[in-house]
Amino acid sequence: MKAEIIAVGTELLLGDILNTNAQFLSRELAALGITVHYQSVVGDNPERLEGVVRQARSRSDLLIFSGGLGPTEDDLTKQTVARAYGDTLRFDEEELEHIRAFFAKSGRTMPENNRRQAMVPTRGRKIPNANGTAPGMIFEDGQQAGKYAVLLPGPPKELQPMFLDSVRPWLAAMSDSVLHSMTLRVAGLGESHLEDKVAHLLRGENPTAALYAKTAEVIVRITAKAQTKEKAQEMCRSYAQKFYDILGDCIYTDHADSLEEVVVSTLAERGMTLATAESCTGGLVSQRITAIPGASEVFSYGACTYANEIKERVLGVKHETLEACGAVSPETAAEMAQGVRKAAGADIGVGITGIAGPGGGTKEKPVGLVYISACSADAVYVKRIVVPNRTREVVRISAAQHALEMVRRLALSLEQPGCSRFAPGKAAHMETAE
Ligand code: AMP
Ligand code: MG
Repeated sequence: MKAEIIAVGTELLLGDILNTNAQFLSRELAALGITVHYQSVVGDNPERLEGVVRQARSRSDLLIFSGGLGPTEDDLTKQTVARAYGDTLRFDEEELEHIRAFFAKSGRTMPENNRRQAMVPTRGRKIPNANGTAPGMIFEDGQQAGKYAVLLPGPPKELQPMFLDSVRPWLAAMSDSVLHSMTLRVAGLGESHLEDKVAHLLRGENPTAALYAKTAEVIVRITAKAQTKEKAQEMCRSYAQKFYDILGDCIYTDHADSLEEVVVSTLAERGMTLATAESCTGGLVSQRITAIPGASEVFSYGACTYANEIKERVLGVKHETLEACGAVSPETAAEMAQGVRKAAGADIGVGITGIAGPGGGTKEKPVGLVYISACSADAVYVKRIVVPNRTREVVRISAAQHALEMVRRLALSLEQPGCSRFAPGKAAHMETAE
């Protein structure tokens, strides 16, 4: 069944409100296995609405409308759709009573123009509105059986329950398949590198898999269509296994929403604690960690150590290290991580130092260069990243993401790809380069 969603309302075109109804309806239809081919938005204008309805009716089996049922809008959507689907509207006494009662409940009397909301399809059917006055309605095409138009009120608190209670069960009974999606999140591999590895898995038709690049992570979305939800879930799971076989522990989750969520739960499961010393990220790592409920169990100390003097005094970074290697160096990052770990008495320490830009870069140390260190009692790792030609914001987000990924790997005792290993101790020196 091919569906399309039509949101009616000039306020949407003016940008006054966001079209959240389209998002809600698209998700719900996808979950029912109904393919949405188009979403449109049209203002409260009869001619343009009619044009949209005519075109949509010619190419889709199911049209779902949101909005345009208000009493002040001259029944715009109802009249237009009724005409297109070969139906008429009739006055419904029972509906009028419902509208009157709705007003009475809040101690008001019904304004006359609300009577219009009691007009319902003659051949089609009305849908009760438990949370407002405008009833929803379903029209069946007079010329093509099995083609429908569903009209829903605009306010999300009316539209959503009406869809879930009345429309979804009706659609589920008609639909013969269900869609299920699964999201894998991958850190530490760029999109093009990832695409090379899994290109053959991106060509499947059922399940389908697609990559979405975000800052310093890539999302793999797998979607399967089947007769039942269980079957679709099973198809997703076995397709996901093919990605696990190739990407292994670079997939950091198939259920959580973010890397910080995984870091917090991983640390909590292992009874480990974390402390951070951040320079160019200004506390972004600690902000992300502390946004997760339960962070207090695993996070003990976050320092934003911008000035060199503070790096020395608070973290114990050696004056000689800063003099000889500079504030933006692997050695300083390693000493920051170890210093904050010690100061907090934590299991894992993180140190981040870099040049977020736009100024301050040199040929040797360009804008976008960041050194990130994560250490435990017996291992110190440093990663060098260069985020070229990007904004300060992107440099900071990338650095925080790499830091979180290094913490996850350290907590799970996984390898640290792309990192140099340093000898633990006061003055950092490199043991093995990448
Ligand atoms: P209507 O049913 O057109 O009278 O819409 C009434 C109210 O519902 C509007 O003023 C908005 O606040 C809200 N609304 C209408 N359409 C949408 C939409 N597509 N997404 C989210 N809210 C909407
Ligand atoms: Mg409106």
